[in-house]
Amino acid sequence: YSEQQESPHVQLLLYESKLRAAIDQGRLELVYQPQFDPRTRNIVAAEALLRWDDSEFGAVTPYKAIAVAESAGLVNEVTWWVLNNAMRQGAAFRAQGLDIGVSVNLSPNNLREPDLPDFIDRGLRTWDLPADRLIIEITETAVLGAPELVAETLQRLKRIGVRLSIDDFGTGYSSMSYLATMPLDEMKIDLSFVRDMLDVPQHERIVRSMIELAHSLGIAVVAEGVEQEAVAERLAVLGCDRIQGYYVSLPLTAADLVA
Ligand code: C2E
Ligand code: MG
Ligand code: MG
Repeated sequence: YSEQQESPHVQLLLYESKLRAAIDQGRLELVYQPQFDPRTRNIVAAEALLRWDDSEFGAVTPYKAIAVAESAGLVNEVTWWVLNNAMRQGAAFRAQGLDIGVSVNLSPNNLREPDLPDFIDRGLRTWDLPADRLIIEITETAVLGAPELVAETLQRLKRIGVRLSIDDFGTGYSSMSYLATMPLDEMKIDLSFVRDMLDVPQHERIVRSMIELAHSLGIAVVAEGVEQEAVAERLAVLGCDRIQGYYVSLPLTAADLVA
């Protein structure tokens, strides 16, 4: 026997049982990456990002954690945990004088869960967080999957008053006409275009066009993956509404963000 012989299936089962334990033992955490307005240089929102530090495997990436959750049938449970904690923290930020939006990533299957809008509605009441301080990030793939069911969920979320954001924009295949029919408030330009936009003219042109497209649809724009001051300055000139990336800050614990 050697570890290399272990099938991916066995590996996955191991991760699944570890994830169950992590949920039960409260070993999942959220970190918050601030977003700021490049013109006023005020922090206006923060994205909640999942962290799972396993005693044996070390830091498990959120991609892996969500994939494990999906295969173990735990994805709703993990998402409920993330949403509930992010809403509670959003209210805590406000209580500490930091009145910012808090965004949460959903995985595609979450949007097929009919209880999602009610769960969010209850959470907002429980923590006394104004609905428009919660930003729900979805990806293009999520939206393409089951158009009718997803559209209904999005409409219900919209009625509750939360803000809807499309994440990693530009990496999927959504058509512009379809995009225009969705009740979106915000578009996040994928970091693959942003990071090197000053070195790759093509990427700069794509970013500029996306900002124009979003604004002409009445949608705010967040650029992800801003690592240099010069990129932040360029984005300000292009009219980008918010920036997020290592130039602003790494993801932080809630306490560090407040500090
Ligand atoms: P995302 O939603 O696009 O989040 C942005 C990712 O880019 C984060 O990685 C963040 O740490 C990273 N990042 C931020 N600034 C920079 C930068 O300047 N340069 C570079 N190279 N990277 C930067 P992270 O935390 O590893 O998360 C990866 C992905 O995992 C997220 O991408 C999101 O799709 C997913 N994810 C994270 N938390 C959750 C969650 O609670 N639920 C679900 N369903 N997915 C999550
Ligand atoms: Mg995101
Ligand atoms: Mg993204």
